[in-house]
Parts: sequence; structure tokens; C-alpha cells
Amino acid sequence: MSDAQRAVVIGAGFGGLALAIRLQASGVQTTLLEKRDKPGGRAYVYEDQGFVFDAGPTVITDPSAIEELFTLAGKKMSDYVEMLPVSPFYRLCWEDGSSFDYVNDQESLDRQIHARNPADVAGYQRFLAYSKAVFDEGYLKLGAVPFLSFRDMVAVGPQLAKLQAWRTVYSMVSKFIQDEHLRQAFSFHSLLVGGNPFATSSIYTLIHALERKWGVWFPKGGTGALVRGLVRLFEDLGGRIEVNAAVAKIDVENNRVKGVRLESGELFPADSVASNADVMFTYEKLLGHHPRGVSRANSLRKKRFSNSLFVLYFGVNHHHTQLQHHTVCFGPRYQQLIHDIFHLDTLADDFSLYLHAPCITDPSLAPPGCGSHYVLAPVPHLGNAPIDWEVEGPKYRDKILAYLEERYMPGLRSQLVTTRFFTPLDFRDELNAHVGSAFSLEPILTQSAWFRPHNRDADLPNLYLVGAGTHPGAGVPGVIGSAKATATLMLAEAGR
Ligand SMILES: Cc1cc2nc3c(=O)[nH]c(=O)nc-3n(C[C@H](O)[C@H](O)[C@H](O)COP(=O)(O)OP(=O)(O)OC[C@H]3O[C@@H](n4cnc5c(N)ncnc54)[C@H](O)[C@@H]3O)c2cc1C
Repeated sequence: MSDAQRAVVIGAGFGGLALAIRLQASGVQTTLLEKRDKPGGRAYVYEDQGFVFDAGPTVITDPSAIEELFTLAGKKMSDYVEMLPVSPFYRLCWEDGSSFDYVNDQESLDRQIHARNPADVAGYQRFLAYSKAVFDEGYLKLGAVPFLSFRDMVAVGPQLAKLQAWRTVYSMVSKFIQDEHLRQAFSFHSLLVGGNPFATSSIYTLIHALERKWGVWFPKGGTGALVRGLVRLFEDLGGRIEVNAAVAKIDVENNRVKGVRLESGELFPADSVASNADVMFTYEKLLGHHPRGVSRANSLRKKRFSNSLFVLYFGVNHHHTQLQHHTVCFGPRYQQLIHDIFHLDTLADDFSLYLHAPCITDPSLAPPGCGSHYVLAPVPHLGNAPIDWEVEGPKYRDKILAYLEERYMPGLRSQLVTTRFFTPLDFRDELNAHVGSAFSLEPILTQSAWFRPHNRDADLPNLYLVGAGTHPGAGVPGVIGSAKATATLMLAEAGR
């Protein structure tokens, strides 16, 4: 590439933003093109009548990966966004009335585990040691390294074998822990990145060690404040961001990408292009005019995609101080419900929920004395269950509100000021997500690392991917790691 290098990044999710910052900070003139009217992607923000709703990620882990983006740009994160610690990390609740506060305090953890099953105190220590070993190998060493050749995969084979990566998250947790509630408490984490604990590699137990090491955080002003901080950092570095800029086509000439074309017809020439848009959408639609797009889309169509989500945002004229910031509300079934979500073609009658109550940490997200919330239920993606969400959405909303009122938020329905929901149809239509998946390709072993779509396309050498559909995968730390892996390749190509 010449000195006057220009890169285009399609999509301003966390992955796209982190990549754009890395490129711009290294002297590549970078333009970030976002389809929607605001950046953030799954971390979009809705506002209504003084209520602020973070649309997606709320459990912010590995703040050091975020801080690194500011440091490499010669800035301080604290000048852009304030991170607040959250404790407990989560409160886990079951229908039998029991609960578990997952905290970063060993004594409290031991006490709670002992109360459920004394033998599990020692079992938990062994699980934590295992989780730390996976974290060292899988996250610290490989989380931001691109897997471009099968040799890279073979090289890590012995470590994967040693860590028994072929086992599932749940089976590995069960090896150490006997109590069923505790098994759920230490295995549900993979669901946060779209992984079925009964199918996903035990590598994903590393999330537990990651949370224990760095804690769980929440940006003051909400996750949206973190997005705004990253956008400001990118612009301070001289980067250009365009919203309402839906890319319609990636232009290719002589097997090299030449730039992109918006739906409006506007052209953005570039020396390299990285797509943070859904990986299937990138190949099927943006490159559908090129043989590479057609063949790649055909092979991706055969892959397994993660579940979708039903997300209900609601503001209430009451501050529910009995809640914690993050609550996992386990329903009556665990394994069977997860099976239904990942494999059935219908919506189960029961659900398990994640309830967000950010005003517990930051009351400024709602008018005084009020509360902003969201609650999400994992649901099947549209490829498995073509549910008519236009019809089912309002019914599902009402069912969830009634359940929350009965068990968690007394008086809820009479306190409602505003509600809105986001269904698999919205994941498909708003975010261009294949089959409305909330987390892109399912993170099973045979779709991880080298088996995941690569950070650089194998045939078009200046086309790159970043975000949940490429290595290492979904979740905020995952996509920020993917940006590091992709930037390493782009900057090496650029001689930077
Ligand atoms: C409800 C929910 C809760 C979650 N909670 C957590 C959590 O607590 N912690 C955590 O770590 N992770 C969480 N996740 C996962 C995490 O949010 C995602 O994995 C991550 O944010 C995805 O980032 P990404 O970079 O892949 O891009 P995305 O956020 O998917 O962004 C891609 C962007 O590309 C844009 N785009 C698409 N097509 C085009 C086009 N043609 N032209 C221009 N732009 C286009 C989209 O509009 C979008 O802005 C959650 C996800 C969801 C949905």
C-alpha cells in the first residue's frame, strides 16, 4: 500500500469501532460507515421520556482491553468515560425461592456454596483453577491472534487436548460441582456469547476466570456512554464516521476490493475494507455480485447460528431497590429449555430471563424516583423457528411482565411509563443478522478459531472481517479482541 492509505470499516459495533480506532491511531485514514442513525450496533441506545435504555451489552468485562484502545492512542480512558464497579456481578434466582450472589469475594462465595453443598467448596476451587488455565491459554494467548492457516490450529491442538476442549461447558462444570443450582450458576455464562452450555466447548468456562480477574463494570451513563467515548476518541484521532450510511456493495476489481458503495449510490474508494456487518450478510449481500461472495455464503449457510433474543425495554415510575443491577431469573427447566431454544421450531411455554436494573448503579438513567430496565429471554432463531413475532411479540411481552410482577417487581404493570421490544425479526431487519441470530455463528469447537470465518478473507486479500462472526467471537471482549487480530493483519499489510 502507498503512504496515503485509506480504509473503510462497515458497521460501528464495538468491533468496528475498536478496529477503526486502531487503524486511525496507526496513521491509516479510516472511514466508519454505519447503517443506523447512531453507532453502537447491538449496543444501541433508546431514549424515551427521560428513560435511557442500553439496548444490548450491559455486563462489561475486561476493561483493560477497552483501556488499551485509549492508551495506544496516547489518551486516558478516564478522560472519556468513567467505569463503575458492579457488585454482586449477578444475583442468580431460582423458582424455589433460593438465590446466589455471584461476587468477587472468596469468603462469601465459599459460604454460599457451602450452604448448598459443602463438598462443592473444594470442587469450586478445582473448577476455578481449570477456568484460569483455560483463560491463560484461550484468552490471554489466543484471544487476539488471527487463525489464518490450519497450521495455526494444529499448533494449539495439544493445549486444547490437555484442557479437554472437546467437553462441553456443562459437563466440565459437572465434573467439579455436584449441586444442580451451582452447576447452572457456573455454566450459564456461555449463553452470554450465544453458546449452548450443553454443546459449546469447555474453553468458554474461561469467562468465569475473566470475571474473577477483572471484575464486572458498568460505564457511568450506560454502555451508550462507552460507545460515545470510543466515537469521540476515533474523531479526536481524525477518523471520519458517517451514520445513516448503509453499504449496499463491496466493489471488487481484479480480485482486489476497491471500496464500497452506499445504498444512496455514494462511493467510498479504499485500499482495504473491513466488514463489521453480519458475516453472512457481508458475503451474501455485499459481495453477492462476486463468485467469492456466492461460494462463501453457500458454505456459511450450512453452519450453525446462535440463538436469538426477545428483549423488552421498560421504564417504571418506581425505583425497585430490592433488585440487583444484574439478575438471572432461572425458570423451571434448564437443560430442556436450552435444548428447546437451540433445536425446536416453536417457542417454549416457559423461559429463563436476564433482568437489567442499571439505576441501581447509576440513577441518572431514569427520571428521579424512576427506573429504566430491560429483560431478555433467549429464543430460537428464525431459521429454526419461523415464529411470527408481529403476533407473538405483544403476547410474550405481557407474559414476561406478569411473571416479573409476580416474582421480582411487585406492582410492575401499574408502574409502567414506557415499553418497547426487539425481536428476532428486528435482529434480522435492523442489524442484518442472518436468521435473526443475536450472536452470529454458534461458538462450538468446530466453528471456533481457524474453523470460524477468518479475520482476513482467503481469496480477496484486502477484505477483512471484524466482530462476532470472526475469531474469537461474540461478546464485548471477544469483538474487541477480534479488532486487535484484524488490525494486526491490516497494519502488517500496510507496513505499519
Ligand atoms: C441484548 C444483548 C445483550 C448482550 N449483553 C452482553 C453483555 O452484557 N456483555 C457482553 O460482553 N456482550 C453482550 N452481548 C453480545 C455483544 O453485544 C455483541 O457480541 C457485540 O456487541 C457485537 O459487536 P460487533 O462488533 O460484532 O457488531 P454489532 O454490534 O453487531 O454491530 C454491527 C454493526 O454493523 C451495522 N451494519 C450492518 N449492516 C450494515 C451495512 N450494510 N452498512 C453499514 N452498517 C451496517 C449494524 O447496524 C451494526 O451497527 C449482548 C448482545 C445482545 C444482543
